[in-house]
Amino acid sequence: MSADSAEEDFNSSLPPLWKFVSVEHKISGGGNVRFTCNYCGKSFPGSFVRVKSHLLKIGGTGIAKCTRVSSNDLVITQREQREFETRAAKVLPKEVPLPPSNSRTNSFSSSASTGTSMGTRLQARQDLDYEIARMFYSSGLAFSLAKNPYYIRSYTRAVNSKHLAGYVPPGLLEPLKTAWKGKGVSIVSDGWTDAQRRSLISFMAASEGGTMFLQAVNCEGEYKDKYFICNLLKEVILSVGPQNVVQVITDNAPNTQANAETYEECSWVTEVTGDVMAIENFIVNHPMRLSMFNANSQLKLFSLAETRFASSIIMLKRLKLIKQGLFNMLVSPNWANYREDNVQKSAFVKEKILNDLWWDKIDYIIALMEPIYEMLRKADTDKPCLHLVYDWWD
Ligand SMILES: [Zn+2]
Repeated sequence: MSADSAEEDFNSSLPPLWKFVSVEHKISGGGNVRFTCNYCGKSFPGSFVRVKSHLLKIGGTGIAKCTRVSSNDLVITQREQREFETRAAKVLPKEVPLPPSNSRTNSFSSSASTGTSMGTRLQARQDLDYEIARMFYSSGLAFSLAKNPYYIRSYTRAVNSKHLAGYVPPGLLEPLKTAWKGKGVSIVSDGWTDAQRRSLISFMAASEGGTMFLQAVNCEGEYKDKYFICNLLKEVILSVGPQNVVQVITDNAPNTQANAETYEECSWVTEVTGDVMAIENFIVNHPMRLSMFNANSQLKLFSLAETRFASSIIMLKRLKLIKQGLFNMLVSPNWANYREDNVQKSAFVKEKILNDLWWDKIDYIIALMEPIYEMLRKADTDKPCLHLVYDWWD
């Protein structure tokens, strides 16, 4: 970035975060300046990336996170910055510049048109090659597609047909989208973590015609409160067309947390499932205890990923099945031999397993959840099944 373009950045499309630092002077090279944070008063050299990392407390970028930005301010500034980035992304050029540049092509073809027809034909072929390359690069298509006979045949047909002048390729998802208008569409949103541990929120549109992926938003470093999710949802709903949307289905954590406050009287359920997990972890993480347990129980212990369907209920049901095995483990002579290790935790495990009231709670949770569990298990299919739900309910 030259000094001139840095000047432009300062004056025109200013990211909102510049409001929170005072720029002292420019440093030669790059878009670098020396800035002082208005919150903590510390001074740093660097470009906007460092201003952003400092104020939004983004780690791993070689600049200290601001210690004086309150969590409230953080939420507001993060939102402003995100909105700014969304606006900026919208004005970015969609055209991918690849050689040859348009000016060169035009001058070449205009001079070529007056020259030999051989040159014109060669140029036309080359231009088409470039357009195809542009398609591959800009969408990150696999190069193996170039060998696909249908891909080759489609171009051959387009080029050889006399009747295809003005032809525009079809939008492949159009039929799905037309179904939205007639029957409505459900927006489905879910949080996810990718292989690089980046937090993503994905949005899908489900309708009678099928489910279609809309977008995934990288929420790295964002505070995912209800306002944040709400704004994302608004964008998605606008893109789908508000008149088509019949419902929004989500299980995003912040919303669930907001609900958790409302249902505090049910906190004992989470306590019991927490106990069960602690017991399982204790046994699984200590090889000697695990071998004691395996010697005393025919069924093995197992734990489920939390993302699996109804993991807590399955875990509790399994625990009931291995109850006798757990008892046998506790009274086996081996258990006493290891009583010096992890005294507190093993006492906790023993206390819970021998506690009839605790087992009663587990029975109660299972009995309470069973009908809901059955219903969800039956409804967990791609086929429409809402009309069957009323029968199951009886
Ligand atoms: Zn600061």
